[in-house]
Amino acid sequence: MQLVFIFFCSFSACYLRSMTQVCWLVKQDNCHQRIRLPHLETVVIGRGPETKITDKKCSRQQVHLKAECNKGYVKVKQMGINPTSVDSVIIGKDQEVMLKPGQILHIVNELYPYTVQFVEETEKPVSGGERKRKRPCDDNETDEEIKSGKVEAEPLDCSEGTSALKPPTSTRSVPDLLKGEKPSHKKASFGHWSQGLTISMYDRRMQVYRDDRVVVINDKFPKAQYHWLVLPWDSISSLKNLNQKHVKLLRHMQTVGGKMIDRCVESKRVRFRLGYHAVPSMNHLHLHVISQDFDSPCLRNKKHWNSFNTEYFLESEDVINMIKKHGKVIIPQGVSDFLNLPLCCHICKEQQPTIPQLKDHLRKHGSK
Ligand code: AMP
Ligand code: ZN
Repeated sequence: MQLVFIFFCSFSACYLRSMTQVCWLVKQDNCHQRIRLPHLETVVIGRGPETKITDKKCSRQQVHLKAECNKGYVKVKQMGINPTSVDSVIIGKDQEVMLKPGQILHIVNELYPYTVQFVEETEKPVSGGERKRKRPCDDNETDEEIKSGKVEAEPLDCSEGTSALKPPTSTRSVPDLLKGEKPSHKKASFGHWSQGLTISMYDRRMQVYRDDRVVVINDKFPKAQYHWLVLPWDSISSLKNLNQKHVKLLRHMQTVGGKMIDRCVESKRVRFRLGYHAVPSMNHLHLHVISQDFDSPCLRNKKHWNSFNTEYFLESEDVINMIKKHGKVIIPQGVSDFLNLPLCCHICKEQQPTIPQLKDHLRKHGSK
């Protein structure tokens, strides 16, 4: 009996991974420069090597930051004399405010902007090899980006978030955190290609809409003339993590997607669909809002086409209804087989031998 128990424990240690919420303070103009904010620990930020701020107007102890990972915000206290602000509202000396994802913290005098990110990270088992994440669209553009060096395939410099958090309520400086919490394993989740959306969603240049619950970004490799992604600020990795309590959020994501369509100058002429890929390749829940012209050089292969034109594409409304009915999203087994189906025109259903021929065919429809 004891043996069985020991076997079970070691099996669990090897194969079970638990997710932890990790908070990062991310420099706005350089998302690779980030500082870890451990749950309930006060971190002091100001002039110094870790922020590279040399401005004398900024105190060495300009702000105290305390992440409340379970609540999804960071408490910011202005300690320096010169103004620290959140979304351009000055905090005031010795005053404390909440900083949420999507808001901009300027360390001093409307300068040195930062945002916060809450990221779900996997605590790795003590033993067992790194298992490569399977990518359904393995010829995805992100590979090309990685190969061409445009995207970092390797994790970012300062720590992985898998180390044990120190006891709460202590005050630690950034250098301590950088020194003390270097990862034992370098394979990151944050700097991995599949985390690209988590970086893009905080990039102001990619954002086209934002509110307190969601952000909309331009798809970096649009598969049609209009292709946006709606992402919740909440750290939800995929459809698999959804339950009844997310219905309101999903409904809001769909409404925001609808607003994007209404705003679009061609919305009267172009048809749109809103939905999710059954097996997404990118981490962080994202709703595709895509025009049905599929007129884009980024649409290059059968998998791209079939991911939007077969049952691999789950309508947003259907996803919401499924959760209401079953309490979760059920992905049918073998759904990835849809990606290998022959190319069929989405308007007349005529089969086409190649992508270029399919594109010619679509032009004949004058399809939008
Ligand atoms: P999927 O995960 O299959 O639902 O689709 C992910 C979408 O994200 C694809 O349409 C990609 O073109 C797009 N994409 C990939 N990397 C990025 C990025 N770094 N920023 C914005 N969009 C991206
Ligand atoms: Zn056709």
